[in-house]
Amino acid sequence: MIQIKGLSMTYETSEARYTALKDINLELAAGETCAIIGPSGCGKSTLLKILAGIITDFEGTVEINGQPVMPKTQIIGFIPQNYGLLPWKNVYENICLGFKIKHKKQADYEADLTSLIQLLGLGGLEYRYPGELSGGQQQRVALARAFLLKPDLLLMDEPFSALDAMTREEIQNVFLSVWRKHSVSTVLVTHQMEEAVYLGRKIVILAAAPGKVSKIVDNPLFGVDDVREHKDFFQLCVELRKMIKEDWSK
Ligand code: ADP
Ligand code: MG
Repeated sequence: MIQIKGLSMTYETSEARYTALKDINLELAAGETCAIIGPSGCGKSTLLKILAGIITDFEGTVEINGQPVMPKTQIIGFIPQNYGLLPWKNVYENICLGFKIKHKKQADYEADLTSLIQLLGLGGLEYRYPGELSGGQQQRVALARAFLLKPDLLLMDEPFSALDAMTREEIQNVFLSVWRKHSVSTVLVTHQMEEAVYLGRKIVILAAAPGKVSKIVDNPLFGVDDVREHKDFFQLCVELRKMIKEDWSK
């Protein structure tokens, strides 16, 4: 379970102070997915960096399974926007990077490694380098690496935004199928409403700067089969978009 209470974060530079997040309260049950959507500059990446333990000088409390964020002892998977693959390592080595860094024994991961490579459709690509892969394939490698570690928390910062629409839908499906098998608590940032409604069990709408939660939606359509074809899906996206427009234009 992820618990955020009274979280505020102010950046201090030599010239100015800038409050990027203000009094965020949020709870996420273990194994849930949460999509965070908000306008550019509202503090989405800042929030992920706090959850990842990269930013530590915030106010309030942030806990993962009852403990403050401690990247040394907890396993926090982070997929940045550019996938974070090392260009000089091949697919197989990139996937294995996570447990090398965490000093885990490869033998304990062998079975999961094989099944994730299959599940993510990476069979046959193991010896290719990131530069020899499409964006969608690179994203699959990043997902394999993240899920292999069985993270306490998986964070994804606009993970699918660079992909074309068809590839994005395909990889969203791939993400959900892996997530169902591994049931990892996931927080993802997106600026695309369809993505939030498709992938978020919870949808958190952030207001324009300074980042405040303007609404939390328990998404009734999450996990419904072929939901993207449903009228309700379309309807919910329209409703949320409307709500956001009103909110962001204030
Ligand atoms: P988002 O991901 O929602 O686009 P960010 O979390 O990246 O927003 O940034 C939120 C705000 O904080 C922005 O206005 C940005 O300019 C500011 N900001 C981000 N990083 C820094 C930093 N290291 N120093 C000062 N201000 C920052
Ligand atoms: Mg960002």
